[in-house]
Amino acid sequence: MLALLMTLAMLVPGATAVPPGPAALTGASRRAVIPAPVTAAPVTTAPATAAARKTIALTFDDGPHPRYTPQVLNLLRKYHVKATFCIVGDNAARYPALVRRIRAEGHRLCNHTRNHANMTRLSNSAARKQITTAQRQIRAAAGVSPTVFRFPYGASNARVRAVVRDCGLRNLRWTVDTKDWERPAARTITARVLRGARPGAVVLMHDGGGNRSRTVASLDSTIRQLKHKGYTFVLG
Ligand SMILES: [Zn+2]
Repeated sequence: MLALLMTLAMLVPGATAVPPGPAALTGASRRAVIPAPVTAAPVTTAPATAAARKTIALTFDDGPHPRYTPQVLNLLRKYHVKATFCIVGDNAARYPALVRRIRAEGHRLCNHTRNHANMTRLSNSAARKQITTAQRQIRAAAGVSPTVFRFPYGASNARVRAVVRDCGLRNLRWTVDTKDWERPAARTITARVLRGARPGAVVLMHDGGGNRSRTVASLDSTIRQLKHKGYTFVLG
């Protein structure tokens, strides 16, 4: 059977060159040129691990912000992309409708402390309070509690990571820092994402905490180019 599949695949130009990518992007073209039994061949002969699939997670920190978060959400909706929003609790309390919208549109909520604290400078009890207060603020706005947490400034140590674990939350790291908070040109933000893009990448951007107009301006091109490269978007 395998030999037959390989023979058939060789008869179809380009068939074996199709990567085991997301079905939504490659399935249609495969179906168009290959008889049904052969469509399974590239999938069964290639590793189906998560690392081999071209997935990427977009994450937006420090919001929600009444100006930028809706623009980010509109772009994500335009391209049917789901992302993760690392919410500052006090912002959730100020803009609960935005937190509800993030949740309602299928994105993931992430705890980013009550007021963007550097957790390494806090006692265990103060660090825990940052987390539990933000959990309460986000739950009050969206009706659900986050299951992931991201350290402000990426500042962590074993002690405060244990506090996060004790609160039942998973520590969400990133692999691509766009440094969008430095307000580089939009095309620079896009270039940084594309340069760091690889299967399993987690991209750090910001929808709050300052002027994020360049992040918003970069996003359309970033998403289009990632999709063109065959990436699908997963939650962080
Ligand atoms: Zn932050």
